[in-house]
Amino acid sequence: MIIGIVKETFPGELRAAIVPSAVTRFIKKGFNVLFEPGLGSTLNLADAEYITAGATTASRKDIISKANILLRVRKPSIEEIRQMASGSVHISLLDPFNEKDIVTAMAERGISGISLEMIPRTTLAQKMDTLSSQANLAGYAAVILAAERINKLLPMMMTPAGTISPARVFVIGAGVAGLQAIATAKRLGARVDAFDTRPVVKEQVQSLGAKFVEVDLGETGQTKDGYAKALTPEQLEKQRAVMAKVCAASNIVITTALIFGKKAPVIITRAMIAAMKPGSVIIDMAIESGGNVEGAVLNEEPLINGVRVIGFGNLPSRVCVNASDMFSANLVNFIEHSWNKEKNAFILDPDNELIKGCLITHQGKVLK
Ligand code: NAD
Repeated sequence: MIIGIVKETFPGELRAAIVPSAVTRFIKKGFNVLFEPGLGSTLNLADAEYITAGATTASRKDIISKANILLRVRKPSIEEIRQMASGSVHISLLDPFNEKDIVTAMAERGISGISLEMIPRTTLAQKMDTLSSQANLAGYAAVILAAERINKLLPMMMTPAGTISPARVFVIGAGVAGLQAIATAKRLGARVDAFDTRPVVKEQVQSLGAKFVEVDLGETGQTKDGYAKALTPEQLEKQRAVMAKVCAASNIVITTALIFGKKAPVIITRAMIAAMKPGSVIIDMAIESGGNVEGAVLNEEPLINGVRVIGFGNLPSRVCVNASDMFSANLVNFIEHSWNKEKNAFILDPDNELIKGCLITHQGKVLK
């Protein structure tokens, strides 16, 4: 059975789906591994390292047409889907709810399409969960970016010339990315406040040494999968009123608020930005899902009333070495999950609970 890995083509994407340590694990299972030359070049990995691990180089076209399992970080083009072998498996992030044409093309071609975003957020699946592994690193990258853009220190310092007070960082949305942002800002010595609509998060925020901002929103709760529920317009208004005060007192605001399958809620309005101190920095980590901040623009950093509003996409790519290591490990774990020990083979079982969650197309049908 052939596993194929192609280079990413999306502008600015520096991650690779597979690193050499994963190749070693595939080869041990008896797979043949084909990879596109230069796969690890953005990670300073030479082709020789993949070859030493047991992989073979091939042209992109050959890899796509020959692979039984094709791996990549981002979604494929329709053209490349049509070059794939019928009955093969495609595993990547797919954004299936916004990419109907890709999903239809996969079904038409008879491809089993796995959407990594749809892997259930269960304990069993944690080691395959690319959303978590990448969001975690994005949380780190966001704080480092903010620290670089702001014109003051994060930690408190006592110097002969006087005491420097710590920067104030406010993290809105304390899921995987937000919690890592809190932890990173704390490590850098900032004073950190945080808020999330899921009440269970309060303890996690406090255990990282940050202060949880209290807002009386009434019933908020979470879905059975642990995701936040969308707030009512009245609740969102109440939230904004409290957030406005904390933003005005903060030097850095990092927003990560997402509602699964929906556009991100707008939490920071232009009026709230106008009340912030000039020189402050906002990082809108939800920008690729519509954004939490009015005026934020994808891949730009406008100054709004003296506040820098950063809307950079693909933050995990800024730490592409670790992001690729994590992504690659997630993929190996996913493939090993479908390893049938008796038959000593990879067998995708559409009735397996975990596979059921993320299998988008199979045997000519769109399943979700
Ligand atoms: P996410 O990326 O979907 O959302 C980010 C955060 O935004 C969430 O914490 C959410 O509650 C919050 N949010 C939504 N609306 C908000 C608002 N108006 N104001 C402030 N915050 C708002 O979340 P995620 O990081 O993917 O995590 C979602 C859930 O999945 C969490 O409960 C997490 O613990 C859980 N999870 C479980 C596993 C596992 O067990 N395998 C793995 C990862 C995540």
